[in-house]
Amino acid sequence: MDPVLNYIDGEFVAAQSGETLDTINPATGEVITTLPRSRSEDVGTATSAAMKAAPAWSATPISERIRWLHRLADALMEEHETIAHLESMDTGKPISLARRVDASRSVANFRFYAEFGEQHSDPTFSDHGAVNHVHRSPIGCVGLITPWNLPLYLLTWKVAPALLMGNTIVAKPSELTPLTAHHLAGIMQRIGFPNGVFNLVHGLGPEVGQAIVEHPKIRAISFTGGTATGKIVAATAAPMFKKISLELGGKNATVVLDDAPLEKIMDDVVRASFTNSGQVCLCGSRILVHSSIYEPFKQQFIKAVEGIVVGDPSNESTTMGSVISKDHQQKVESYIRLGREEGGKVLSGGTASDSPVDGVHPNGAFLRPTVFEGLSHTSRTACEEIFGPVVTLHPFDDDDEAVTMANATEYGLAGSIWTGDAQRGHAFGQRLDTGIVWVNTWLNRDLRTPFGGVKQSGVGREGGAWSLNFFSELTNICVLEP
Ligand code: NAD
Repeated sequence: MDPVLNYIDGEFVAAQSGETLDTINPATGEVITTLPRSRSEDVGTATSAAMKAAPAWSATPISERIRWLHRLADALMEEHETIAHLESMDTGKPISLARRVDASRSVANFRFYAEFGEQHSDPTFSDHGAVNHVHRSPIGCVGLITPWNLPLYLLTWKVAPALLMGNTIVAKPSELTPLTAHHLAGIMQRIGFPNGVFNLVHGLGPEVGQAIVEHPKIRAISFTGGTATGKIVAATAAPMFKKISLELGGKNATVVLDDAPLEKIMDDVVRASFTNSGQVCLCGSRILVHSSIYEPFKQQFIKAVEGIVVGDPSNESTTMGSVISKDHQQKVESYIRLGREEGGKVLSGGTASDSPVDGVHPNGAFLRPTVFEGLSHTSRTACEEIFGPVVTLHPFDDDDEAVTMANATEYGLAGSIWTGDAQRGHAFGQRLDTGIVWVNTWLNRDLRTPFGGVKQSGVGREGGAWSLNFFSELTNICVLEP
């Protein structure tokens, strides 16, 4: 495959230093291609291009920007299968998942913001004889930094509203998964998207990401990634009074109440636990189950988990591929060992040597879905983000105890509640310290809704009008007739 390059001012270019990094297929350990190891000078060039393009793009009528978003959605739809293939190869996720989630949602992000923009209007308020008009202006050049678990899905989730609101962009995808961002840049070049409006700089977080956050001309940073990195981003951006949106880690509870219809919910609870090998910030990795149904839940859950087909991501029947890298596999395995040291019992799965996956490449980063019981809900295994295919089961005796257990982590991104009584689930959901709660469903996303976390899971909300507000400056113009 051709090398991945930076995309600056409509041209594909190497890092100024000429240095490169490898991107690796985690299911085989093989190098796919190289990407630029860019540094602050490349961020500087990209930012200059974005600043140069900003006046014309911000002056482009919103109807025209909406047309561009539709054209990008159309072009991505035409490349749906290629994108799924690239994403599966770069991340190790099953091709079926990459099609259904990554490729489809990337199209949907552009389409959604195009249609949302068509319908959006800002309010006016009349009082004391004056009319207050809410006026929106672009921020200018914005920095977008994204992780490896849903590469194009999360990048386009930021690109679409940023473009809609008239901003120009310097974006940095994860160094582990650069392929689909590069492909998007190729699509932009092919369809004649204006040069300099979207710029892509590849490389390492502390080098390229940090340079984006530090650059004085980049006035807003939308960051999705880990909590530890989010702290660095916040500390760097705060003294410069940049706007920041931080979408960070999670350790989400799945709460199964005593009236939950187990057979009906089991597939969804398993999906919430192990989609993308548990590498979705919204996955429920702490499963709290009412003690009266704990044993039947456990039996049915383990049976369903053992039905997950772990294997080669390119195989259509695979339902769980590799994790993102050998390093990450080792991190997840260290948590499996920690879980045992903390007194947990492995009911299914384990480290790769405990429970090897047959028929996969020997250098692939494969793990089986792992289920623990017997751990305290305050143990490190049950409270720290593992971001892999590991869940812990915990019985509880009443709703108050379940709320206490669900809220007992530093994180507060999402949670799901499973019950035969939707009203009870709704009321329970209001007691969780999280930004998102699902009742009897999971990853059911209406893109108009606010998305984001509380506590160490982030600052701010994305989605619908919340993204439009983040990616624009609002001025109130109060007009009194003379
Ligand atoms: P990460 O924090 O290691 O990296 C995220 C991005 O930040 C990458 O592009 C990385 O290169 C860059 N980066 C690293 N150091 C940087 C620095 N000093 N300055 C600026 N940028 C820097 O996260 P990851 O391992 O790629 O992704 C996994 C994490 O992302 C998990 O914690 C997961 O929960 C979180 N996540 C959150 C959401 C959400 O919406 N809340 C969605 C997906 C993933």
